[in-house]
Formats: sequence, structure tokens, C-alpha cells
Amino acid sequence: MSATLIDGAAIARAVRAEAAAEAKRLGLRPGLAVILVGDDPASAVYVRNKVKACEEAGFHSVLERYDTQLAQDALLARIAALNADPMIHGILVQMPLPRHLDPHAVIEAIAPAKDVDGFSTTSAGELMTGLPGLRPATPLGCMKLIESTGVPLKGKHAVVIGRSNTVGKPMALLLLQAHATVTVCHSATADLAAHTLGADIVVAAVGRIGTLTAGMVKPGAIVIDVGINRQSDGKLCGDVEFEAVRDRLGAHGHITPVPGGVGPMTIAMLLMNTLQAAQAR
Ligand code: NAP
Repeated sequence: MSATLIDGAAIARAVRAEAAAEAKRLGLRPGLAVILVGDDPASAVYVRNKVKACEEAGFHSVLERYDTQLAQDALLARIAALNADPMIHGILVQMPLPRHLDPHAVIEAIAPAKDVDGFSTTSAGELMTGLPGLRPATPLGCMKLIESTGVPLKGKHAVVIGRSNTVGKPMALLLLQAHATVTVCHSATADLAAHTLGADIVVAAVGRIGTLTAGMVKPGAIVIDVGINRQSDGKLCGDVEFEAVRDRLGAHGHITPVPGGVGPMTIAMLLMNTLQAAQAR
């Protein structure tokens, strides 16, 4: 028998419904502002989905779209205005930004209390030190997916492939906080399989087709595929050779599909973060 599928779409629906119900119960109308600069088609889809999810949950949402040429000063001024707006509890600037804009300066301009992406140095520091705060949505969603398996993380060996500030590093810290023993791999890792073969949990966050193959996992492991890649036929796929790895994991293993795994969770956790930010105020 092959591994159990972790249904990210269904879990995300439940999380979104929970966010909506909790906001209603608390009498809150959380507000999210999403800023998109430029005309990247993938980014346009992402921001539309985020705003739509807010509307469905009964949250207030604002989508601000700007021309690629937008000057950094003008963007920082918009962020300052949103920082001061009492209707807005979360601010998200869609990445990547056009090259003339400095993503670090832009992220740091967002008030830490409204940093629902969890990318600022304040949020990163809170995660690092174990203080309460806003955590990056994608790794947070991965944690929910792992929790959904019912497998306790304490004492388990987790391998994270990828060390970006937005996915790999926060993922490793969340796993560490959950008492897993964590290995972080990256492009200079000498023998990736040597690490993944011993792992109880593998999180692949690379952006490269075929990063994790059947010969690199042990039966019974949990595999979370964060990667989003486009195949030559236009279809989406992850970093994991899905069918072969699913077979290899066997009846006691768990695996996320792409699409329908981590992707929907990112938006669900963004709603949760916006609710958390509204509650904190
Ligand atoms: P990124 O910033 O490009 O980071 C990729 C990481 O993979 C880097 O740390 C890189 O190592 C590592 N890497 C590259 N080649 C490798 C190899 N051959 N073996 C091992 N590690 C290797 O990407 P990201 O922003 O973290 O995103 C990763 C993937 O997740 C992308 O496909 C992205 O589209 C997807 N993603 C999905 C969601 C979602 O909601 N589902 C959200 C965010 C991202 P170095 O540091 O050494 O360069």
C-alpha cells in the first residue's frame, strides 16, 4: 500500500472556516492590505486568491496595485499610511518586487504588529527566540499538515531541504520548537540522500523538479512538498517525485500532493495571522 495523502485543500478549508468563526465569535473584523507592484501574472493570481479568501471569511481586505515603475519612497509612504490605518491589521507586500525596490527596506517598513507574512527581522527574532509573534504562513501551514498526521514530532529527525528566509529557515525553527532534531540541507549539501534517508520528516522547499526521489526516503516517513514548478506540459508539480516516493513511503507514510498540499495552507495561515494581529490589537 502507498502512503496516505495529506489533503491540504481540505485542511485549509477547515482552518479558513475556523478563522472566520473565531473572528465572528470575538466580534472582530480583521483587515488585510495586500500590495502588488508590477504585472507578474503568478503574483497577480496569488494576491487575488488572498483577497478572495479574506472576503469569504468576512474579513476586510484592500488590494493596492501599482505600476512596475513605482518609486521606493512612494511605496514606503503607502506602507506608512497603512501602518496608521485602524481598519488594517495585516499588511502584505507581494514578493518578488521589481529590481529597483529593496525588499528588505520594504519589509522593515511594515509595523511589526501588522507583519502578517512574518518576514521582518522583528518577527524572525521572535521566532528564533521562541517569543510569541507572527510566523511565516507557509512553514506554519506545513506544521499544520504534519500535525494532521497525528505523528508526534518530539524526538523525530526532520530534514528541511532549502534555507530561504521565507520557507527553509523558519520551517527548521518551527520543527526545532516542536522538539524535532533538525537538519537543514541546501545547494552545497554534499550528499542529500545521506540525510533524507534517515529522516522521519522531509520538507522539500527548493523549487527544482525531482529533488526528492524514491531512493532518498525511508518507508513510514512524512514528506511535505513545498516546491512549485511548472512542467514542460504546463502542469504544476512539486520538488518530490510524487508517485514513486508515495509508493516507497508505504502504508505508514504520509505525503502532500502538488497542487492541493502546502499551497492552500499558505492562504489559510495568512488569515489566521491576520486574525491574530487583529486580536493582539
Ligand atoms: P529559494 O529562496 O530559491 O530557496 C531555495 C532553496 O533551495 C535554497 O536554500 C537553495 O540553496 C536550495 N537548493 C537549491 N538547489 C538545491 C539542491 N540541488 N539541493 C538542495 N537544496 C537546493 O526558494 P523559496 O522561496 O524558499 O521557495 C522554495 C520553493 O517553494 C519554490 O518552488 C517556491 O515556489 C515554493 N513556495 C511555495 C509556497 C507555497 O505556498 N506552496 C510558498 C513559498 C514558496 P542555497 O541557499 O544554497 O542557494
